[in-house]
Amino acid sequence: MKTGLLYGIVASSKTRVRCVFCGVYIPKASKCIEQHTNGAKHKENIELMNENGICLLDDILHCKPCKQNLPEDESVTKHIEGEDHANWIAAMDDLVDGEFITLDAYLSCEKDEVFCEVCNSSVNCSLLSIEEHVNHINHRTNITERLKPLNGIFPVDNDDEVWCKVCDAYIDNTVQSILSHIDDDEQHMEWFSEIEDLIENQDVSIESFLTLEHENFAYCNKCQMEVMCNALNIESHVHSDAHLNQFGL
Ligand SMILES: [Zn+2]
Ligand SMILES: [Zn+2]
Ligand SMILES: [Zn+2]
Ligand SMILES: [Zn+2]
Ligand SMILES: [Zn+2]
Repeated sequence: MKTGLLYGIVASSKTRVRCVFCGVYIPKASKCIEQHTNGAKHKENIELMNENGICLLDDILHCKPCKQNLPEDESVTKHIEGEDHANWIAAMDDLVDGEFITLDAYLSCEKDEVFCEVCNSSVNCSLLSIEEHVNHINHRTNITERLKPLNGIFPVDNDDEVWCKVCDAYIDNTVQSILSHIDDDEQHMEWFSEIEDLIENQDVSIESFLTLEHENFAYCNKCQMEVMCNALNIESHVHSDAHLNQFGL
């Protein structure tokens, strides 16, 4: 983040300067400018710019999502509270949720595109382009490959099916049926929500269990010991005195 004293401060008249980010005028005296640029509101506006795709071009603020320049007297805070901007951000968050697409570089104005991690490619940052991208079969396939090892899904001898270790169930080996198993199968989702609840903040890892077909154990990093990877055993482990003692409780 750029934080130079005069970052965002532009000349306005003989006696005043303007802070572009806050949309306010300040007396042209180093002391006043310093006080303003050290203020919490000013710093918050700079942070919000970096989270909202608002860039400083020369001495005007440009909002990339809204494709418009902000009027002189409009602060960053005021702009992002506007309906158009807020709607765009909400729609975008919705669209990229769970899609391994990162907006950070776009929103901080480093890049004009967003990045899809699973496809290892840049995507034009419009709602339409991203919607097309996430629905494309190549992206769905890459997402499936990324999610399999996080969900305990393994290939079997016959290529027509895959095996879900968590549910001990066979699933058609198609992108659609694997994704719908991961996202919609009740038993599958329940297993994850129950186990994840139990191990939250307990430093117990289930990664090897999910990625290695023949691994039957979760691993407690605190106690440095294996625990059978099912809700009953993990529950009794995380409630055991030996485990709790590791936390100094
Ligand atoms: Zn300011
Ligand atoms: Zn905007
Ligand atoms: Zn992709
Ligand atoms: Zn399953
Ligand atoms: Zn433990």
